[in-house]
Amino acid sequence: MSIEEKSLNFLEEIIDGDLNNGKYQSIVTRFPPEPNGYLHIGHASSICLNFGLTQKYPGYTNLRFDDTNPVTEETEYVESIKEDVRWLGFEWKNERYASDYFDQLYDFAVTLINKGLAYVDDSNSEEIAKMKGTPTEPGKDSPYRNRTIEENLDLFLRMRNGEFPDGSRTLRAKIDMSHPNLLMRDPVLYRIKHASHHRTGDKWCIYPMYDMAHGQSDSIENVTHSICTMEFVPHRELYDWLIGKLEIYPSHQYEFARRNINYTVTSKRKLLQLVNEKYVTGWDDPRMPTISGLRRRGYTPESIRDFCERIGVAKRENLVDVGLLEFCVREHLNRVALRRMVVFDPIRVIITNYPEGQYENLKSENNPEDETTGTREIPFGRELFIEKDDFMENPPKKFFRLAPGQMVRLKSAYIIKCDEVIKETDGSIRELHCTYFPDSRSGHDTSGIQVKGTLHWVCASHAAEVEVREYDRLFKVEDPAGEESDFKNFINEHSLNVVKGYAEPSLLSAQHKDRFQFLRKGYYCLDSDSEKEKLIFNRTVTLKDAWAKEQKKSL
Ligand code: ATP
Ligand code: MG
Repeated sequence: MSIEEKSLNFLEEIIDGDLNNGKYQSIVTRFPPEPNGYLHIGHASSICLNFGLTQKYPGYTNLRFDDTNPVTEETEYVESIKEDVRWLGFEWKNERYASDYFDQLYDFAVTLINKGLAYVDDSNSEEIAKMKGTPTEPGKDSPYRNRTIEENLDLFLRMRNGEFPDGSRTLRAKIDMSHPNLLMRDPVLYRIKHASHHRTGDKWCIYPMYDMAHGQSDSIENVTHSICTMEFVPHRELYDWLIGKLEIYPSHQYEFARRNINYTVTSKRKLLQLVNEKYVTGWDDPRMPTISGLRRRGYTPESIRDFCERIGVAKRENLVDVGLLEFCVREHLNRVALRRMVVFDPIRVIITNYPEGQYENLKSENNPEDETTGTREIPFGRELFIEKDDFMENPPKKFFRLAPGQMVRLKSAYIIKCDEVIKETDGSIRELHCTYFPDSRSGHDTSGIQVKGTLHWVCASHAAEVEVREYDRLFKVEDPAGEESDFKNFINEHSLNVVKGYAEPSLLSAQHKDRFQFLRKGYYCLDSDSEKEKLIFNRTVTLKDAWAKEQKKSL
């Protein structure tokens, strides 16, 4: 780790200061998702940040569902969000919902009316927008701005009682229609929406707006550091205004830059379109940048936390290279993945000096990076498969794999020599006839033969046919959401490639939690579509590390 990574980020500096000067004894943060979709890799940054701070400093983190929009929110999303946060390795102190506070928020609104700081406006949304003004021109007062407190209280109660249709009235804060910050020009606090809510059902037909709900919820929970993304900077003034006027616990808002990765989109609304329009099989499609997609793809929580740690916290937005995420998962999987052999595009090898019908079990390490994982047995026999491109009939000089007259080692097995290439009548290769050296068994090699290449292989009669799903980027351009035309125009139609593999038999007992390195190929895990008779593996990431190479080049 570099010195830079160890130094405090700007939020840690603020918190450090607050704790040192006695402003707080402990801190409270919250992660506040709106349950209108599944969490994505951008949310992982926010989760790691909020929960990470209270792991580092005394205090705790709440999980708060920001569920003030009944139309887009669903219980399915709530459940998936809880699963994802836990899977990432974090536990919240309290599970809360903005909707828990609807009664209290309503009372806050009444308090504002009583203080002459809020009024019911009969203008519709277009009229309100028209009166808003522009950054260079002041807005206009609504004709309803000077209603009496009594009239406002009566109308607001009737809004709540369902007397008025959607959009016909709003409750607005009475601040200043020529305020330089447009959000302070009498922002709407409540709107009428006759819609069933995933938790409160039909109890309410008025719902608080984000600004009326978020800061007040923070305050109710005594959140000390309310961390959100940069687009909320202009909201901070209103956040403070409402807390100040209501005279409630003074939570403070801090902003950091959104973290997005390239070649994908990170917006629940856009991801929902991909799901609904069937560009992907679901929220957990392994090509999705969702936590559930990454999980199904074989990413580990450790690798995602490492990624979030490495990209850190900043004030300026930037697009992070997905290569860094891949680098992190490779690093972790290299340490934990079980090594296995799978041949994808086979060519048959006959060991002519090995007896027909005879087999032996050879031992191979599960993971050379971790001795505690022990060994597994792999059957060896007369007929084997190796990868077609590990053989060349007329090889160039430095081809250290198999060729006529050349020798290679079969991983964890013997050294073999290619004696003869047997062809079909059309000239294509049917099989290779080889001999093996019985005294060259790995770990017991007394043959004295030196070879330069080691190949992966499987025993033809014992190999299990499996399906392997190889994934590529979901989009063809780095920033599909930043393009002029619809982001879906940039979908990579070759993002999924399904191939067959011949797997060593130990893979038949693969479990969903297992992580594998298929030697010389990449990292893989069992997919949830697998059945007992048909195993399906996802390629998490290839072995090749383009990102690390790029980094070296730029040094
Ligand atoms: P989306 O557009 O995907 O719905 P959002 O910001 O509306 O994103 P929320 O559910 O409101 O999603 O977000 C919960 C928390 O996660 C918020 O504090 C938000 O700022 C943070 N967050 C969302 N996206 C990112 C991102 N790309 N990088 C960092 N934090 C993010
Ligand atoms: Mg949102």
